[in-house]
Amino acid sequence: MYTMKSQNLGPNTICTHVGEVEDKQFKGAISPLFMSSSYAYEDVDVKRYPRYFNTPNQEALCKKIAMLEKSEAALIFGSGMAAVSTTMLAFLHKGDHVVLPQTLYGGTYNFVVEEFHKFGIEYSFAEGFSEADFSEKIQKNTKVIFVETPSNPLMRITDLEMISKIAKQHGIVTMIDNTFASPINQTPADFGIDIMIHSATKYMGGHSDICAGAVAASEEQIKIIWNLAKNLGGSLSDYTVWLLERSMKTMVLRVKAQNKNAKKMAKWLEKHPLVEKVYYPGLKSHPEHELAKKQMNGYTGMLSFEINESLNVGDFLKGLKMIKPSMSLAGVESTILSPAKTSHGLLTSEARKEQGISDGLLRFSVGIEEVEDIIADLEEAFQSVSKMEKI
Ligand code: PLP
Repeated sequence: MYTMKSQNLGPNTICTHVGEVEDKQFKGAISPLFMSSSYAYEDVDVKRYPRYFNTPNQEALCKKIAMLEKSEAALIFGSGMAAVSTTMLAFLHKGDHVVLPQTLYGGTYNFVVEEFHKFGIEYSFAEGFSEADFSEKIQKNTKVIFVETPSNPLMRITDLEMISKIAKQHGIVTMIDNTFASPINQTPADFGIDIMIHSATKYMGGHSDICAGAVAASEEQIKIIWNLAKNLGGSLSDYTVWLLERSMKTMVLRVKAQNKNAKKMAKWLEKHPLVEKVYYPGLKSHPEHELAKKQMNGYTGMLSFEINESLNVGDFLKGLKMIKPSMSLAGVESTILSPAKTSHGLLTSEARKEQGISDGLLRFSVGIEEVEDIIADLEEAFQSVSKMEKI
């Protein structure tokens, strides 16, 4: 097994080899699974227990995640929201303040606005993505800046170097939800961000069959998060830990294939007569394309597009044969979702418009299928819905 000292390994090697449990007994090629929820406490260096986040499988997988995120340590959780909530609460106490972007994953937004007042934690939303937008929200009691880039669903990009610079000036801890990028497309530690959070349900799992979360940071910061995590109890079952480790072996291959397909799809959609607008950081037309080029290794498999307002979104989605309209994202299969009907469904049409989310907006998680097949499916749906509108 590779150790944390092997800092120069490539991401494919890290995904394949780092963080394996060594099978000392049978010398099997993959990690054995230790399902025990009860471990000896006499004559052991570590008292292990699943909710202490330190079973053999949990500890091993953390090494893979930490190394991918260029961090000293990591923790794995039962969901992305367990990772987000535990990490935020570990660094925010009564009377503290946090700055967040206005376009946030819905679950994180709900956690902040529904729960923080119970803990006496204050928050402000930056109105845009510029240095001034974030700086003007900083208060004397600001302890954390939390960002999410690329953002969901409009794929806006926040400058990580800028965030880390203003945070350091004020002694503030920085956190990023790195889910949409994955550690393959973006390593925020390179730009001075302190804590990386993932819904591992997405690119890390990659097969739409796991719900998990992860956090990577310095050993000192992970210790602070762990102290709260063991009390809140959001640990991940060892079977799922094992499955996640297996899935992550192919993460680079999957993510690169998804990046490649998404770029082709973005270009194809941009030229389509029934598409009004495409939101993809890999397109020159994207407002932060140059920034994305600077801070990302790949532009992700996620994009959004607006279909012509004369078309009925529901009929368009029904016309798809292969691409599945479904809630989550980042699986090997292409999936699509209407934010107006799901994540932003509780907002009024006006409030959605203010955030730039039209009723014709579709968030598209591009899979690993042959791109010609993805195009054919979309084109067929466009043709069938446009025929319907003419009838
Ligand atoms: N962060 C982002 C960007 C997400 O898209 C999601 C889920 O969709 C989460 C966090 C929450 O993750 P989970 O559903 O695994 O709790």
